[in-house]
Amino acid sequence: SEVSLQTEQGGEKGYKGHDMLAPFTAGWQSTDLHPLVIERSEGSYVYDSNGKKYLDALAGLWCTALGGNEPRLVEAATKQLNKLPFYHSFWNRTTRPSLDLAKEILEIFTARKMGKVFFTNSGSEANDSQVKLVWYYFNALGRPNKKKFIARTKSYHGSTLISASLSGLQNLHQKFDLPAPFVLHTDCPHYWRFHLPGETEEEFSTRLANNLENLILKEGPDTIAAFIAEPVMGAGGVILPPKTYFEKVQAVIKKYDILFIADEVITAFGRLGTMFGCDKYHIQPDLVSIAKALSSAYMPIGAILVSPEISEVIHSQSSKLGSFSHGFTYSGHPVACAVALEALKIYKERNIVEKVQAISPRFQNGIKSFSESPIIGEIRGTGLVLGTEFTDNKSPNQPFPSEWGVGAIFGAECEKRGMLVRVAGDSMMMAPPFIISPEEVDELISIYGESLRSTE
Ligand code: PLP
Repeated sequence: SEVSLQTEQGGEKGYKGHDMLAPFTAGWQSTDLHPLVIERSEGSYVYDSNGKKYLDALAGLWCTALGGNEPRLVEAATKQLNKLPFYHSFWNRTTRPSLDLAKEILEIFTARKMGKVFFTNSGSEANDSQVKLVWYYFNALGRPNKKKFIARTKSYHGSTLISASLSGLQNLHQKFDLPAPFVLHTDCPHYWRFHLPGETEEEFSTRLANNLENLILKEGPDTIAAFIAEPVMGAGGVILPPKTYFEKVQAVIKKYDILFIADEVITAFGRLGTMFGCDKYHIQPDLVSIAKALSSAYMPIGAILVSPEISEVIHSQSSKLGSFSHGFTYSGHPVACAVALEALKIYKERNIVEKVQAISPRFQNGIKSFSESPIIGEIRGTGLVLGTEFTDNKSPNQPFPSEWGVGAIFGAECEKRGMLVRVAGDSMMMAPPFIISPEEVDELISIYGESLRSTE
């Protein structure tokens, strides 16, 4: 059914069996189907090469926060390209946009004071760099045994060797000989799916924090370097932390002198109705990863925020350990930084966080009104991010047979009606641009409803 629905829509005829080894694409998709070629974008919409219009309910890949044609971002890029298209940031040579952006990022992150910013080109590179930074830090402190990382099942932290290892999704591990041996996984905090009969959210959180503590004790606290978590899990299905979860997890982490890395690649800059996910859940991280909405995806850029304590050690130990020999040609690329600076300026000027707070109830309540559907187990979300779980009998323990492809059918029904969403197994995810209007939210809800009826 997935094949026939997708073929029905046409796609770009000349490119069937195209030459690209496409990311996260099955071989049969690129050989048997016409690719959907997106050609231009406008506000919350994208248009394919046949002229068909789609509401972009995933903001590209959770990233085009300011929608498809923000002229100020284009102008910022063009101005910088004309002035200085490139210079690097190695050996204390750098460019003004990267210096200004680092300063601005430190100013807007207020969950706690941070010390320095390290630039990357993506979220995966940010998380990869986190691991090297943490290792360097503990080596500098003379504690070389502190090397292991704890991440969570169903998390997504990227697809490079290390970030895929941190991720807790089987398809990123199987056939790639991953995860790397220094990565351990603890429970996914999905209350609806994993709570025991009669267990409250608070009790569930206590149990998960205890499991985390037991894992740390079993491995030896002196071997665990850091814990990494997304404030709200994104690609794993939009999973919100249960009540008191981060409070309890942070207490365990602190007790054993383990660093907390907040992966804010999706959650930063307003997605949850707060500037950062750390604000929403009172997380006080040692390190933070950001990307995506940092530039509203108009240029590839990511970054790490480093606590004052860690940056101080890295700086003060440099005479002993030598330079921090890590970085990329394009770390702090001036054009990407200029675009990101403009995006942050726009978020501020347009009160983007308040805008997300204002539109969020319409979006969340509208979609949650379909919760009674017989094929939906749970609809969950906050701000402008939402996940739907399709299950049989509305039960967390009764997934549909995978060969039915219920999620894929729903996704294809949305696509047919002019809306792009993300489907993974029987989870469906949406994260529309921050600029989505009330009318566009209504359209999104109506396409969701019609697609649901056809899928039922
Ligand atoms: N971390 C999180 C939470 C993400 O959602 C993603 C991408 O979706 C990444 C990291 C990886 O980012 P990138 O695709 O830019 O490498």
